[in-house]
Amino acid sequence: RPRSLSGIQATSDSLHLGNYIGALQQFVEQQETHDAFFFIANLHAITVDQDPAQLRERTLRTAAQFIGAGLDPQRSTLFVQSHIPAHTQLGWILECTTGLGEAQRMTQFKDKSTRNEHVSLGLLTYPALMAADILLYQADVVPVGEDQRQHLELTRNLAERFNHRYGDTFTVPEPHILKSTAKVYDLQDPTAKMSKSAQTPAGLIEILDDEKSITKKIKSAVTDAGTEVTFDPEGKPGVSNLLTIHSALSGRSIEDIVAEFEGRMYGHLKVALAEVVVETLRPLRERTLELLDDPAELTRVLDAGADTAGAIAERTIADVYDRVGFLTR
Ligand code: ATP
Ligand code: MG
Repeated sequence: RPRSLSGIQATSDSLHLGNYIGALQQFVEQQETHDAFFFIANLHAITVDQDPAQLRERTLRTAAQFIGAGLDPQRSTLFVQSHIPAHTQLGWILECTTGLGEAQRMTQFKDKSTRNEHVSLGLLTYPALMAADILLYQADVVPVGEDQRQHLELTRNLAERFNHRYGDTFTVPEPHILKSTAKVYDLQDPTAKMSKSAQTPAGLIEILDDEKSITKKIKSAVTDAGTEVTFDPEGKPGVSNLLTIHSALSGRSIEDIVAEFEGRMYGHLKVALAEVVVETLRPLRERTLELLDDPAELTRVLDAGADTAGAIAERTIADVYDRVGFLTR
């Protein structure tokens, strides 16, 4: 089986629909066909300021949402990034493999460094750590949203550069980015990516939101000029985003949904979409809240995941240290 690996940052109490559709839903599919590894990225989380108690809590909440969304610890290895020291060990080596200009060209760095007052060095070196996350496990595919495409490209370059310099060490991974769903947009600003670090929560649907607030946010979503429900991401970004979300969650084709709303108004689409989102998220939310009632069980799952992941990571880092020329003790 090819190996699939990905992570989500522990930077919010609840993941949002973009994380769900762009990432988590793909994870759940890939655990059926791949040797699957998914982790909670708490090392990446501290590239921007985090409250310690909150980070701890959010790490467990994110793990609960992984399982609540359908990841099965029997089939996928679920773990916490900081439990495996090899991530930071390889991260350092890949920082030394990355050019400064190369890191500065990453659009995530440019976005986040202009948005945040304090810019940490970690925000710049983030993609080297992300490359380490992936290369440590010799992952074949990495399911991510469109916004991570550039980091994946860098990861491939770093793997090839290292392999060329030190001999074949890393598998060069392929991104798994679905054209149709890899970018879910903010409901209030359909030109911006739905993001945990959004300015206002009104355009962000959290997967743990209650039904009333989901419905309210969808009903007040910004739509476009005209009245006809058509899929036109350029001309009608708002309506197209609603159609994309509907299609991703209902499993129906965009054409099929557009046909259903022929001759009807945007408001009708919103009512139908709210129902689809509520129905999809209800069981997910219920399972997640149940899991959070038993943090000891979650901790057991993550400890077992760290054992499995750690064994693989240690093998890779030992090989890398040797190739780089670090003396063995
Ligand atoms: P932050 O704003 O803190 O970076 P985020 O919402 O981007 O948070 P991440 O933890 O950085 O969340 O990303 C987790 C995964 O979710 C990544 O694979 C990312 O590509 C994907 N993702 C994030 N936002 C979206 C979106 N709007 N549409 C589709 N996928 C997304
Ligand atoms: Mg992000």
